[in-house]
Amino acid sequence: TAAPPPPHIAVLPSPGMGHLIPIVEFAKKLLHHHRISTTLIMPTDGPLSKAQNTLFSTLPPAIDYILLPLNFDDLPPDVKIETRISLTVTRSLPSLRDAVKSLLERTPLAAFVVDLFGTDGFEVALEFKIPPYIFFPSTAMALSLFLYLPKLDETVSCEYREVAGKLLIPGCTPIHGRDLLEPLQDRKNDAYKWVLHHTKRYRMAEGIILNSFKELEPGAIEALQEKEDGKPVVYPIGPLIQAGSKSEVDESCGCLKWLDEQPSGSVLYVSFGSGGTLSHDQMVELALGLEMSEQRFLWVARCPNDTISNATYFNIQNSKDPLAYLPEGFLERTKGWGLVVPTWAPQAHILSHASTGAFLTHCGWNSILESVVNGVPMIAWPLYAEQRMNAVMLHEDVRVALKPKAGDNGFVGQDEIAKVVKGLLEGEEGKEIRSRMRDLKDAAAKVLSENGSSKKLLAELGAKWKSNTSI
Ligand code: UDP
Repeated sequence: TAAPPPPHIAVLPSPGMGHLIPIVEFAKKLLHHHRISTTLIMPTDGPLSKAQNTLFSTLPPAIDYILLPLNFDDLPPDVKIETRISLTVTRSLPSLRDAVKSLLERTPLAAFVVDLFGTDGFEVALEFKIPPYIFFPSTAMALSLFLYLPKLDETVSCEYREVAGKLLIPGCTPIHGRDLLEPLQDRKNDAYKWVLHHTKRYRMAEGIILNSFKELEPGAIEALQEKEDGKPVVYPIGPLIQAGSKSEVDESCGCLKWLDEQPSGSVLYVSFGSGGTLSHDQMVELALGLEMSEQRFLWVARCPNDTISNATYFNIQNSKDPLAYLPEGFLERTKGWGLVVPTWAPQAHILSHASTGAFLTHCGWNSILESVVNGVPMIAWPLYAEQRMNAVMLHEDVRVALKPKAGDNGFVGQDEIAKVVKGLLEGEEGKEIRSRMRDLKDAAAKVLSENGSSKKLLAELGAKWKSNTSI
């Protein structure tokens, strides 16, 4: 008899880089360690960004991709990202169905994996009897909250931020309602309804692949792995982080060369992920705070946006020059010890560079994991999505980040910025944080090594998918 075909899976990512990057890493690991190949099926409105193009163009041949074009011209401009991501899936269902059907004519599919807000794609999985899975690109804490949300929604009747005292998410450090993820801040908004809709469907999944690991989030992961009827198996296989491609470096902005010239561990890297934007006033204040700190810095700057904090999430390109919004004379005064790079930088390479000593981050989960793997201590500056929860966890629970205090209006002043930056790079508190970060770095390396928990769980999942195919 002929050998069974090599296992193949379909994955439905959402277009944001923060989800796409770990999903691609996941597909690469499946390929290299378990010879499982993948087709990425991605709905997209409009042309791919430069960062997306680079990512897709460096995929190995056994990781294929199909784009499903769709049109969002009718959406109001203030629609929240969770709504938008959910709609990319519901609006693509007919073309998704066709794509899966023609894929199945060539190869059986061992699994159908959707992104965290992609559970409507399960319709197609169920129709073709492909086992449904979720790839969860965020924290175990957020996943624990998601599985608990249907219950929380039934028991709390006011807005979560109005609840007196802290909320108890299974296995997690207690947290104020105001720090829960952004779409949970307004229960009347569609974004909340979408999140609730998905979380109610999470139990339809056979398994949930989680980009985290036990040593980083012991309590939450233990709670997730407690057996319960109808609860999907959770596979914490992280940290999955981008290796950073060669072509990215070739095209990059000269910042790696600049880093080569700086003393070891001396540079603060400042970046707000793929989508983060500050208001103009806040951007100016950050610049003045960095200047006042007298510490070396490398800042990836975006054009400011006074109304939304994730203005560039779906489109990082912008024709305007962000440097034009900096305070007068700033670039001249910081020349030599500060470098401002517009829009996008090779973060994976920057964080693994010996000159990088700290990271001021918007607390996107990929950024945090990249920092952890490289043992770089952080300054937490959350902006959107689940970043406030991540900041609470990093600052209060894992204690590997400092957090500047914002005024009541959320504005962070230059003195506070300078104090925290200096404190992390030069102060006593910084030393303690750095040493905890080193331990975490070692733990991350261990879970990914030969007998490590993440490696073993990925093998378990791979074996399961191989057996699905041979049925
Ligand atoms: N990234 C990068 N260069 C940039 C900004 C971001 O390479 O200038 C990468 C970063 O390394 C990370 C991802 O984009 O892998 C951003 O994901 P994260 O979860 O941190 O934030 P999000 O963009 O989803 O808010």
